[in-house]
Amino acid sequence: MADTEFDAYFLGPYGENADLFEELLTDFMRDHVYWRRNFHPESTPPISTSARYSQEFAGVAARMRRELFALSADLKKSVPWFSPRYVGHMSSDLLMSGLVANIMTTLYNPNNVSDQAAPTTVQKEIEVGFQLARMFGFETETAVRPCAWGHLTSGGTVSNYEGLRNLQALKFYPLALARALERLDLDLGAPGPLKRALPELSQWELVNLSVDMVVELRRAYLSAASQLGPQILHSLREAVRAERLETLGWVDFFEVHPGLKTPVVLAPNTAHYSWPKAMKLLGLGTANLRRVDVDGDMRMSAGDLQVVLDGLKDERRPVLSLVAILGTTEFGTIDPIGDIVAQRERALGAGLYFPIHVDAAWGGYLASIFRQEDGTLVPHEMLKEQFHYFPSDKVYGAFAALGSVESITVDPHKLGYIPYPAGAYVARNSGMIDFVTDKAPYAFEGHLEEQGDLRERLRNLGQYILEGSKPGASAASVHVSHRVLPLHTDAFGKLLKKGVRASEYFYDELHKIADRLGEDIIIDIPFKPDCNLVCLTLNPVKNRSAAGLNRFVQSIYDQMRVDASRPIQVRSFFASSTSLQAGDLSPEQRLTLAEQLGIEPKTFCASPRDLEHDASSLLLIRNTLMNPWLDFEDKGLNYIDRYLLFLEELILAELQSYT
Ligand SMILES: *Cc1c(COP(=O)(O)O)cnc(C)c1O
Repeated sequence: MADTEFDAYFLGPYGENADLFEELLTDFMRDHVYWRRNFHPESTPPISTSARYSQEFAGVAARMRRELFALSADLKKSVPWFSPRYVGHMSSDLLMSGLVANIMTTLYNPNNVSDQAAPTTVQKEIEVGFQLARMFGFETETAVRPCAWGHLTSGGTVSNYEGLRNLQALKFYPLALARALERLDLDLGAPGPLKRALPELSQWELVNLSVDMVVELRRAYLSAASQLGPQILHSLREAVRAERLETLGWVDFFEVHPGLKTPVVLAPNTAHYSWPKAMKLLGLGTANLRRVDVDGDMRMSAGDLQVVLDGLKDERRPVLSLVAILGTTEFGTIDPIGDIVAQRERALGAGLYFPIHVDAAWGGYLASIFRQEDGTLVPHEMLKEQFHYFPSDKVYGAFAALGSVESITVDPHKLGYIPYPAGAYVARNSGMIDFVTDKAPYAFEGHLEEQGDLRERLRNLGQYILEGSKPGASAASVHVSHRVLPLHTDAFGKLLKKGVRASEYFYDELHKIADRLGEDIIIDIPFKPDCNLVCLTLNPVKNRSAAGLNRFVQSIYDQMRVDASRPIQVRSFFASSTSLQAGDLSPEQRLTLAEQLGIEPKTFCASPRDLEHDASSLLLIRNTLMNPWLDFEDKGLNYIDRYLLFLEELILAELQSYT
């Protein structure tokens, strides 16, 4: 049964709520015009009331209209995200609140680089950071340390870059601080939570201090120096700045610290391609992106992680970050973040520290399902009652552990139902902003400017983030939507629960078709979905090769993908595709999969020779189930039934021509 609860939140697949949408847009567009008129009503408007009657004016207006018509016509080739017939990439109909806020705010064109260019939307952006932080279980009371912070980006890619940049700033700070103290011959004792003075620590110890420890040590040392007077504080700051990686660059920094090894970033094989991009950008090199194996469920293998960590510890190679994925882009699978957090604690005990950055660009908003209005976690049992399978123990453990990781990437423009561009970066310890700012904070007698109110400090957002000018419209869009539909289990969570339930239904129904057609074709979901993204693959019983499987899946997929050369209306349904790389799987995993799919194991291999039969990857049809109307019944069938019926017909037709 379709519920009607979300009827008012969207424009709707048929523009059902056009009246409301138009009313809001017209109202706020007029409101904007009045605002202009009332700015200085005493002056004479530069464009005269008769201007529009001139030839030139009419010519420009005509040209503008013609080009806009052309654009509007062209845009009809766009992807029909709004439709429940679209289950391809990670978008859907948008929340009307966000869409209207975005269009409305664009009229004012605020630039969220600083509150000087965006007096109201920067504040909204900072609040969005706190809203997201709260959803993840981070501390958001600014008087408490460590308090979280977050902000918007153009997308998950940039948030991931920033995640690494910030952790890098913290990782190598203690080396710079220790050297600065030595060079100044400044003995400040052992201030802060560590019982030893920094210069007494070994190089290995200095690069294995936790994020919270580094933040506190910096505060403690600067504060101890300021006790000795502003001149000492100033020299210490300058000396530290001169010694930092950010000043010296990799080459000179390593020259100053002989024996120090290039740090690595650990990420599962399923990591998004923004991670290799980040490695190139930071000058770390993709060779230092160490891959951790995934298990049969396409989740990071805690066992392999342990092996990798042990090796790094023996090698004395620092870990800049471990990247865990909450909702892989290709498969929707969720790394066991609960286990990984426990491993971080054990490793820290043994002298190897790795900060955890969670790439939750896709799955981050699912955290709203797990959060009660009062901020506490929804008990596992209570959630289980609302689903067939979700959330598994590992998945629940992952969401419950989010509050303990260092930083998180999340995309409002994916499961937040917000227009592009809207990504976000959220970190547990806002103390890190002092490590990345390019502006020197001023010191007052006995206390430091950086102890000022966090909200106030963040108003100069551009100082702390990677980007410069950026749309205040995105901040307004996310902020208004989070107010209309707050990020907890009984509001935003409800919308996402629909998607998860739809996926479970899809999963069960697909198995029924698989049973029905089992004599002719193998329909397989290679790994159990962790959320609302389901991948499937198909292999005719007569086919025994990986390349043959790919050809069959491709022939089906070709009939449900976006094809710019054809009108979208000729398609009944849309899905997306992805592939499973042989090189990312263990020999056992490859064997299991080959058996499951009825193909010769040797045809699925990392370096294929016989292209007629062999392939290095297997094609999957990827279904993102986030449209709010998937459960809507039309002609006695909901949209998932209809999609599956369509898929079944395609398969049967394709099997006909299959020899
Ligand atoms: C989408 C995605 C990204 C990249 O985000 P963009 O918003 O496209 O830049 C990164 N990581 C994961 C897991 C993603 O799903």
